[in-house]
Amino acid sequence: MKILIVGSGLYGAVFAHEATKRGHQVTVIEKRNHIAGNIYTEEIDGIQVHKYGAHIFHTSNKKVWDYIQQFAEFNRYTNSPVANYKGHMYNLPFNMNTFSEMWGVRTPQEAMDKINEQRKEIAGKEPQNLEEQAISLIGRDIYEKLIKGYTEKQWGRKATDLPPFIIKRLPVRLTYDNNYFNDDYQGIPKGGYTQIVEKMLDNPNITVKLNTDFFDKKDEYLKSFDKIVYTGPIDQFFDYKLGHLEYRSLRFETEEKNVGNYQGNAVINYTEAEIPYTRIIEHKHFEFGKGDEDKTIITREYPAEWKPGDEPYYPVNDDKNNELYAEYKDLADKEDKVIFGGRLGQYKYYNMDQVIAASLEAFRKWK
Ligand code: FAD
Ligand code: UDP
Repeated sequence: MKILIVGSGLYGAVFAHEATKRGHQVTVIEKRNHIAGNIYTEEIDGIQVHKYGAHIFHTSNKKVWDYIQQFAEFNRYTNSPVANYKGHMYNLPFNMNTFSEMWGVRTPQEAMDKINEQRKEIAGKEPQNLEEQAISLIGRDIYEKLIKGYTEKQWGRKATDLPPFIIKRLPVRLTYDNNYFNDDYQGIPKGGYTQIVEKMLDNPNITVKLNTDFFDKKDEYLKSFDKIVYTGPIDQFFDYKLGHLEYRSLRFETEEKNVGNYQGNAVINYTEAEIPYTRIIEHKHFEFGKGDEDKTIITREYPAEWKPGDEPYYPVNDDKNNELYAEYKDLADKEDKVIFGGRLGQYKYYNMDQVIAASLEAFRKWK
Protein backbone atom coordinates (compact mmCIF):
# COMPACT_ATOMS: atom_id res chain seq x y z
CA MET A 1 0.00 0.00 0.00
CA LYS A 2 1.00 3.61 -0.50
CA ILE A 3 0.91 5.37 2.86
CA LEU A 4 1.25 9.09 3.50
CA ILE A 5 2.37 10.21 6.95
CA VAL A 6 1.71 13.86 7.74
CA GLY A 7 4.24 14.95 10.38
CA SER A 8 7.65 13.45 11.22
CA GLY A 9 7.21 13.55 15.01
CA LEU A 10 7.42 10.45 17.17
CA TYR A 11 3.89 9.26 16.32
CA GLY A 12 4.42 9.45 12.57
CA ALA A 13 7.93 7.99 12.71
CA VAL A 14 6.88 4.94 14.74
CA PHE A 15 4.00 4.29 12.33
CA ALA A 16 6.26 4.67 9.29
CA HIS A 17 8.84 2.31 10.78
CA GLU A 18 6.26 -0.37 11.54
CA ALA A 19 4.60 -0.02 8.13
CA THR A 20 7.79 -0.72 6.21
CA LYS A 21 8.24 -3.96 8.16
CA ARG A 22 5.04 -5.09 6.38
CA GLY A 23 6.34 -4.03 2.97
CA HIS A 24 4.33 -0.83 2.58
CA GLN A 25 5.61 2.15 0.63
CA VAL A 26 5.73 5.23 2.90
CA THR A 27 5.99 8.95 2.19
CA VAL A 28 6.49 11.28 5.16
CA ILE A 29 5.75 14.98 4.68
CA GLU A 30 6.86 17.52 7.26
CA LYS A 31 6.15 21.24 7.17
CA ARG A 32 9.17 22.19 9.31
CA ASN A 33 12.71 22.14 7.90
CA HIS A 34 13.71 19.18 10.07
CA ILE A 35 12.38 15.81 11.21
CA ALA A 36 11.44 14.66 14.76
CA GLY A 37 8.73 17.16 15.71
CA ASN A 38 9.04 18.50 19.24
CA ILE A 39 11.60 15.97 20.38
CA TYR A 40 14.14 17.47 17.93
CA THR A 41 17.62 17.98 19.40
CA GLU A 42 20.58 19.63 17.70
CA GLU A 43 24.27 19.46 18.61
CA ILE A 44 25.87 22.84 19.39
CA ASP A 45 29.43 22.97 20.85
CA GLY A 46 29.22 19.26 21.66
CA ILE A 47 26.00 19.78 23.64
CA GLN A 48 22.66 18.23 22.63
CA VAL A 49 20.23 21.16 22.67
CA HIS A 50 16.56 20.33 23.18
CA LYS A 51 15.11 22.84 20.71
CA TYR A 52 11.50 22.57 21.87
CA GLY A 53 11.97 22.37 25.62
CA ALA A 54 13.36 19.80 28.05
CA HIS A 55 12.47 16.24 27.05
CA ILE A 56 13.00 13.50 29.60
CA PHE A 57 11.97 10.01 28.63
CA HIS A 58 10.15 8.21 31.44
CA THR A 59 7.78 5.27 31.42
CA SER A 60 6.47 2.31 33.35
CA ASN A 61 5.53 0.57 30.14
CA LYS A 62 8.21 -2.13 29.72
CA LYS A 63 7.16 -2.82 26.12
CA VAL A 64 7.69 0.84 25.16
CA TRP A 65 11.00 1.01 27.05
CA ASP A 66 12.29 -2.08 25.21
CA TYR A 67 11.02 -0.69 21.90
CA ILE A 68 12.84 2.66 22.20
CA GLN A 69 16.14 0.93 23.14
CA GLN A 70 16.40 -0.26 19.52
CA PHE A 71 17.08 3.29 18.43
CA ALA A 72 19.35 4.75 21.14
CA GLU A 73 21.25 3.97 24.29
CA PHE A 74 19.83 5.83 27.30
CA ASN A 75 21.85 7.36 30.13
CA ARG A 76 20.85 7.25 33.81
CA TYR A 77 19.54 10.85 33.97
CA THR A 78 16.91 11.33 36.69
CA ASN A 79 14.90 14.50 36.53
CA SER A 80 15.21 16.51 39.78
CA PRO A 81 14.22 20.10 39.07
CA VAL A 82 14.78 22.81 41.64
CA ALA A 83 12.37 25.72 42.19
CA ASN A 84 13.68 29.24 42.62
CA TYR A 85 11.19 31.41 44.51
CA LYS A 86 12.55 34.92 45.05
CA GLY A 87 16.10 33.58 45.26
CA HIS A 88 15.23 30.80 47.68
CA MET A 89 15.84 27.27 46.35
CA TYR A 90 13.43 24.36 46.96
CA ASN A 91 13.70 20.79 45.72
CA LEU A 92 10.93 19.36 43.57
CA PRO A 93 8.71 17.42 43.41
CA PHE A 94 7.19 18.16 46.81
CA ASN A 95 9.11 15.90 49.20
CA MET A 96 10.87 15.92 52.58
CA ASN A 97 13.64 18.18 51.20
CA THR A 98 11.01 20.74 50.16
CA PHE A 99 9.12 20.52 53.46
CA SER A 100 12.32 20.74 55.48
CA GLU A 101 13.46 23.85 53.57
CA MET A 102 9.99 25.42 53.81
CA TRP A 103 9.15 24.69 57.46
CA GLY A 104 12.30 23.37 59.15
CA VAL A 105 10.65 19.98 59.74
CA ARG A 106 12.82 16.87 59.89
CA THR A 107 10.57 13.81 60.03
CA PRO A 108 7.62 12.61 57.92
CA GLN A 109 5.38 12.95 61.00
CA GLU A 110 6.37 16.59 61.50
CA ALA A 111 5.74 17.27 57.80
CA MET A 112 2.37 15.51 57.87
CA ASP A 113 1.32 17.52 60.95
CA LYS A 114 2.18 20.75 59.17
CA ILE A 115 0.39 19.76 55.95
CA ASN A 116 -2.71 18.63 57.84
CA GLU A 117 -2.83 21.88 59.78
CA GLN A 118 -2.72 23.83 56.47
CA ARG A 119 -5.26 21.62 54.74
CA LYS A 120 -7.90 22.46 57.33
CA GLU A 121 -9.02 25.53 55.38
CA ILE A 122 -10.74 23.34 52.80
CA ALA A 123 -11.38 20.23 54.88
CA GLY A 124 -14.36 18.14 53.80
CA LYS A 125 -14.75 19.96 50.49
CA GLU A 126 -14.25 18.32 47.09
CA PRO A 127 -11.64 20.56 45.31
CA GLN A 128 -13.37 22.48 42.51
CA ASN A 129 -10.34 24.11 40.92
CA LEU A 130 -6.55 23.94 40.84
CA GLU A 131 -6.09 26.26 43.82
CA GLU A 132 -8.31 24.15 46.07
CA GLN A 133 -6.74 20.95 44.78
CA ALA A 134 -3.21 22.22 45.51
CA ILE A 135 -4.08 23.42 49.02
CA SER A 136 -5.77 20.12 49.81
CA LEU A 137 -2.65 18.25 48.63
CA ILE A 138 0.14 20.22 50.34
CA GLY A 139 -1.28 23.33 52.01
CA ARG A 140 -1.21 27.06 51.41
CA ASP A 141 2.51 27.84 51.98
CA ILE A 142 3.69 25.62 49.16
CA TYR A 143 0.74 26.63 47.00
CA GLU A 144 1.58 30.34 47.34
CA LYS A 145 5.35 29.96 46.81
CA LEU A 146 5.79 27.09 44.41
CA ILE A 147 2.52 26.64 42.53
CA LYS A 148 0.38 29.75 42.12
CA GLY A 149 2.80 32.00 40.21
CA TYR A 150 4.18 29.20 38.01
CA THR A 151 0.75 27.84 37.15
CA GLU A 152 -0.82 31.20 36.34
CA LYS A 153 2.12 32.07 34.06
CA GLN A 154 2.05 28.69 32.37
CA TRP A 155 -1.67 28.64 31.63
CA GLY A 156 -2.43 32.38 31.39
CA ARG A 157 -5.42 31.90 33.67
CA LYS A 158 -6.11 32.23 37.38
CA ALA A 159 -5.53 29.05 39.39
CA THR A 160 -9.15 29.30 40.54
CA ASP A 161 -10.23 29.04 36.86
CA LEU A 162 -8.13 25.96 36.09
CA PRO A 163 -9.19 22.31 36.39
CA PRO A 164 -7.83 20.41 39.45
CA PHE A 165 -6.31 17.54 37.42
CA ILE A 166 -3.29 19.58 36.14
CA ILE A 167 -1.62 19.59 39.54
CA LYS A 168 -2.34 15.94 40.25
CA ARG A 169 0.47 15.07 37.82
CA LEU A 170 3.03 16.08 40.45
CA PRO A 171 4.07 13.53 43.08
CA VAL A 172 3.93 14.41 46.80
CA ARG A 173 6.30 12.28 48.90
CA LEU A 174 7.20 11.90 52.54
CA THR A 175 10.71 10.72 51.66
CA TYR A 176 13.90 12.62 50.79
CA ASP A 177 13.58 11.60 47.13
CA ASN A 178 13.96 14.32 44.47
CA ASN A 179 13.06 12.11 41.49
CA TYR A 180 10.35 14.06 39.63
CA PHE A 181 8.77 10.90 38.23
CA ASN A 182 7.41 7.72 39.78
CA ASP A 183 8.09 5.64 36.66
CA ASP A 184 10.15 2.44 36.51
CA TYR A 185 12.38 3.62 33.64
CA GLN A 186 13.89 7.01 32.90
CA GLY A 187 16.76 8.55 30.92
CA ILE A 188 18.00 10.71 28.07
CA PRO A 189 19.22 9.16 24.82
CA LYS A 190 23.00 9.48 24.51
CA GLY A 191 23.55 11.64 21.43
CA GLY A 192 20.08 13.19 21.52
CA TYR A 193 16.58 12.41 20.27
CA THR A 194 16.88 13.28 16.57
CA GLN A 195 18.89 10.09 15.86
CA ILE A 196 15.91 8.04 17.11
CA VAL A 197 13.61 9.43 14.45
CA GLU A 198 16.42 9.30 11.86
CA LYS A 199 16.85 5.57 12.49
CA MET A 200 13.09 4.95 12.43
CA LEU A 201 12.87 6.61 9.02
CA ASP A 202 16.08 5.14 7.58
CA ASN A 203 14.58 2.67 5.13
CA PRO A 204 14.62 2.42 1.32
CA ASN A 205 10.82 2.27 1.35
CA ILE A 206 10.48 5.59 3.19
CA THR A 207 10.70 8.94 1.42
CA VAL A 208 10.87 12.06 3.61
CA LYS A 209 9.90 15.48 2.25
CA LEU A 210 10.68 18.49 4.47
CA ASN A 211 9.16 21.99 4.11
CA THR A 212 6.00 20.36 2.76
CA ASP A 213 2.61 21.32 4.13
CA PHE A 214 -0.25 18.84 3.75
CA PHE A 215 -2.74 21.66 3.23
CA ASP A 216 -0.98 22.88 0.08
CA LYS A 217 -2.27 19.77 -1.76
CA LYS A 218 -4.77 18.15 0.59
CA ASP A 219 -7.19 16.90 -2.11
CA GLU A 220 -4.43 15.49 -4.25
CA TYR A 221 -2.92 13.61 -1.29
CA LEU A 222 -6.30 12.22 -0.29
CA LYS A 223 -6.77 10.86 -3.83
CA SER A 224 -3.33 9.46 -4.51
CA PHE A 225 -2.59 7.56 -1.28
CA ASP A 226 -4.26 4.39 0.03
CA LYS A 227 -3.89 5.39 3.67
CA ILE A 228 -3.05 8.64 5.47
CA VAL A 229 -1.74 9.04 9.01
CA TYR A 230 -2.37 12.64 10.01
CA THR A 231 -0.54 14.03 13.08
CA GLY A 232 -1.33 17.76 12.65
CA PRO A 233 -4.11 19.63 14.50
CA ILE A 234 -7.43 17.84 14.08
CA ASP A 235 -9.44 21.08 13.80
CA GLN A 236 -7.24 22.26 10.93
CA PHE A 237 -7.88 19.04 8.98
CA PHE A 238 -11.58 19.93 8.94
CA ASP A 239 -10.87 23.56 8.09
CA TYR A 240 -12.01 24.62 11.60
CA LYS A 241 -15.60 24.13 10.51
CA LEU A 242 -16.82 23.50 14.08
CA GLY A 243 -14.61 26.25 15.54
CA HIS A 244 -11.05 26.52 16.87
CA LEU A 245 -9.63 24.30 19.60
CA GLU A 246 -7.47 26.24 22.07
CA TYR A 247 -3.79 25.62 22.77
CA ARG A 248 -1.06 27.15 24.92
CA SER A 249 2.04 28.24 23.11
CA LEU A 250 5.66 28.72 24.21
CA ARG A 251 8.58 30.87 23.21
CA PHE A 252 12.12 29.55 23.65
CA GLU A 253 15.08 31.90 24.08
CA THR A 254 18.40 30.11 23.74
CA GLU A 255 21.69 31.69 24.79
CA GLU A 256 25.31 30.60 24.90
CA LYS A 257 27.14 31.52 28.13
CA ASN A 258 30.90 31.68 28.55
CA VAL A 259 30.91 29.67 31.76
CA GLY A 260 31.25 25.93 32.22
CA ASN A 261 28.34 25.56 34.59
CA TYR A 262 25.64 28.23 34.75
CA GLN A 263 23.03 26.95 37.17
CA GLY A 264 24.21 23.56 38.47
CA ASN A 265 21.12 21.65 37.34
CA ALA A 266 19.38 20.79 34.07
CA VAL A 267 16.08 22.39 35.09
CA ILE A 268 15.39 25.33 37.41
CA ASN A 269 11.76 26.48 37.70
CA TYR A 270 11.00 30.14 38.45
CA THR A 271 7.83 30.01 40.49
CA GLU A 272 7.17 33.68 41.24
CA ALA A 273 4.68 35.60 39.10
CA GLU A 274 7.03 38.57 38.49
CA ILE A 275 9.57 36.61 36.38
CA PRO A 276 8.08 36.13 32.88
CA TYR A 277 9.65 32.73 32.12
CA THR A 278 8.71 29.47 33.85
CA ARG A 279 12.03 27.68 33.66
CA ILE A 280 15.64 27.76 32.51
CA ILE A 281 17.16 24.61 31.19
CA GLU A 282 20.91 24.07 30.95
CA HIS A 283 21.27 21.42 28.30
CA LYS A 284 24.69 19.96 29.19
CA HIS A 285 23.40 18.66 32.54
CA PHE A 286 21.12 16.20 30.73
CA GLU A 287 24.38 14.46 29.79
CA PHE A 288 26.31 15.12 33.03
CA GLY A 289 28.29 18.11 31.82
CA LYS A 290 29.41 16.70 28.46
CA GLY A 291 30.58 19.35 25.96
CA ASP A 292 32.85 22.37 26.09
CA GLU A 293 34.39 23.04 29.55
CA ASP A 294 34.12 26.83 29.27
CA LYS A 295 30.77 27.12 27.55
CA THR A 296 27.22 26.21 28.21
CA ILE A 297 23.86 26.63 26.51
CA ILE A 298 20.74 27.67 28.35
CA THR A 299 17.13 28.09 27.22
CA ARG A 300 14.50 30.23 28.90
CA GLU A 301 10.95 28.98 28.39
CA TYR A 302 8.28 31.69 28.17
CA PRO A 303 4.63 30.68 28.17
CA ALA A 304 2.63 32.43 25.47
CA GLU A 305 -0.97 32.99 24.50
CA TRP A 306 -1.82 30.96 21.40
CA LYS A 307 -3.58 32.35 18.37
CA PRO A 308 -4.19 30.69 14.99
CA GLY A 309 -0.90 30.48 13.10
CA ASP A 310 1.24 30.10 16.27
CA GLU A 311 2.89 26.80 17.18
CA PRO A 312 0.38 24.82 19.29
CA TYR A 313 2.33 23.16 22.14
CA TYR A 314 -0.18 22.23 24.82
CA PRO A 315 -3.82 21.29 24.22
CA VAL A 316 -6.04 22.98 26.79
CA ASN A 317 -7.98 19.95 27.98
CA ASP A 318 -10.74 21.76 29.85
CA ASP A 319 -14.42 20.81 29.48
CA LYS A 320 -15.17 23.33 26.74
CA ASN A 321 -12.30 22.18 24.51
CA ASN A 322 -12.77 18.49 25.25
CA GLU A 323 -16.39 18.76 24.11
CA LEU A 324 -15.38 20.44 20.87
CA TYR A 325 -12.69 17.81 20.34
CA ALA A 326 -15.33 15.07 20.79
CA GLU A 327 -17.30 16.61 17.90
CA TYR A 328 -14.22 16.68 15.69
CA LYS A 329 -13.49 13.08 16.71
CA ASP A 330 -16.93 12.08 15.37
CA LEU A 331 -16.01 13.61 12.02
CA ALA A 332 -12.59 11.91 12.13
CA ASP A 333 -14.18 8.50 12.72
CA LYS A 334 -16.04 8.87 9.42
CA GLU A 335 -12.83 9.44 7.43
CA ASP A 336 -12.08 5.83 6.47
CA LYS A 337 -8.81 6.60 4.76
CA VAL A 338 -7.30 8.69 7.56
CA ILE A 339 -5.87 7.77 10.96
CA PHE A 340 -5.65 10.78 13.31
CA GLY A 341 -2.78 10.37 15.76
CA GLY A 342 -0.48 12.04 18.25
CA ARG A 343 -0.58 15.09 20.43
CA LEU A 344 -2.33 17.31 17.86
CA GLY A 345 -4.30 14.70 15.92
CA GLN A 346 -5.84 13.39 19.15
CA TYR A 347 -5.76 16.69 21.07
CA LYS A 348 -4.17 15.03 24.05
CA TYR A 349 -1.22 16.08 26.17
CA TYR A 350 0.66 12.86 25.51
CA ASN A 351 4.13 12.14 26.91
CA MET A 352 6.57 10.46 24.54
CA ASP A 353 5.98 6.97 25.88
CA GLN A 354 2.22 7.37 25.44
CA VAL A 355 2.72 8.55 21.86
CA ILE A 356 4.79 5.45 21.07
CA ALA A 357 2.20 3.16 22.69
CA ALA A 358 -0.66 4.90 20.84
CA SER A 359 1.10 4.69 17.47
CA LEU A 360 1.99 0.99 17.91
CA GLU A 361 -1.61 0.29 18.93
CA ALA A 362 -3.07 2.20 15.96
CA PHE A 363 -0.79 0.26 13.62
CA ARG A 364 -1.73 -3.06 15.20
CA LYS A 365 -5.44 -2.30 14.84
CA TRP A 366 -5.05 -1.21 11.23
CA LYS A 367 -2.71 -3.85 9.76
P1 FAD B 1 4.82 16.41 17.26
O1 FAD B 1 6.17 16.16 17.83
O2 FAD B 1 4.20 17.74 17.45
O3 FAD B 1 4.90 16.10 15.69
C1 FAD B 1 3.93 16.52 14.77
C2 FAD B 1 4.64 16.96 13.50
O4 FAD B 1 3.67 17.22 12.49
C3 FAD B 1 5.43 18.25 13.69
O5 FAD B 1 6.76 18.06 13.26
C4 FAD B 1 4.69 19.26 12.80
O6 FAD B 1 5.55 20.21 12.20
C5 FAD B 1 4.08 18.34 11.74
N1 FAD B 1 2.90 18.90 11.07
C6 FAD B 1 1.83 19.48 11.66
N2 FAD B 1 0.96 19.92 10.73
C7 FAD B 1 1.50 19.58 9.52
C8 FAD B 1 1.08 19.78 8.17
N3 FAD B 1 -0.04 20.41 7.87
N4 FAD B 1 1.88 19.32 7.18
C9 FAD B 1 3.05 18.69 7.45
N5 FAD B 1 3.49 18.50 8.71
C10 FAD B 1 2.74 18.93 9.74
N6 FAD B 1 7.17 14.21 26.81
C11 FAD B 1 7.85 13.40 27.65
O7 FAD B 1 7.66 12.18 27.61
N7 FAD B 1 8.77 13.91 28.53
C12 FAD B 1 9.05 15.24 28.61
O8 FAD B 1 9.90 15.66 29.41
C13 FAD B 1 8.32 16.12 27.75
N8 FAD B 1 8.57 17.45 27.80
C14 FAD B 1 7.89 18.28 26.96
C15 FAD B 1 8.17 19.65 27.02
C16 FAD B 1 7.53 20.52 26.17
C17 FAD B 1 7.85 21.99 26.26
C18 FAD B 1 6.57 20.03 25.23
C19 FAD B 1 5.86 20.97 24.31
C20 FAD B 1 6.29 18.66 25.16
C21 FAD B 1 6.94 17.78 26.03
N9 FAD B 1 6.70 16.40 25.97
C22 FAD B 1 7.38 15.56 26.83
C23 FAD B 1 5.73 15.80 25.02
C24 FAD B 1 6.36 15.32 23.69
O9 FAD B 1 6.92 16.43 23.03
C25 FAD B 1 5.25 14.68 22.82
O10 FAD B 1 4.70 13.58 23.47
C26 FAD B 1 5.72 14.19 21.43
O11 FAD B 1 6.71 14.99 20.86
C27 FAD B 1 4.50 14.16 20.51
O12 FAD B 1 4.79 13.58 19.27
P2 FAD B 1 3.78 13.78 18.06
O13 FAD B 1 4.35 13.02 16.90
O14 FAD B 1 2.41 13.46 18.48
O15 FAD B 1 3.75 15.36 17.78
N1 UDP C 1 3.73 23.17 38.59
C1 UDP C 1 3.89 24.17 39.54
N2 UDP C 1 5.15 24.50 39.96
C2 UDP C 1 6.26 23.90 39.48
C3 UDP C 1 6.11 22.87 38.51
C4 UDP C 1 4.83 22.54 38.09
O1 UDP C 1 2.91 24.74 39.99
O2 UDP C 1 7.38 24.27 39.89
C5 UDP C 1 2.35 22.83 38.16
C6 UDP C 1 1.92 23.65 36.93
O3 UDP C 1 0.54 23.92 37.05
C7 UDP C 1 2.16 22.69 35.79
C8 UDP C 1 1.79 21.36 36.43
O4 UDP C 1 2.26 21.48 37.78
O5 UDP C 1 1.35 23.00 34.66
C9 UDP C 1 2.41 20.14 35.77
O6 UDP C 1 3.81 20.27 35.79
P1 UDP C 1 4.76 19.46 34.82
O7 UDP C 1 6.16 19.70 35.22
O8 UDP C 1 4.27 18.06 34.76
O9 UDP C 1 4.45 20.22 33.45
P2 UDP C 1 5.10 20.10 31.98
O10 UDP C 1 6.54 19.70 32.13
O11 UDP C 1 4.26 19.10 31.27
O12 UDP C 1 4.94 21.48 31.44
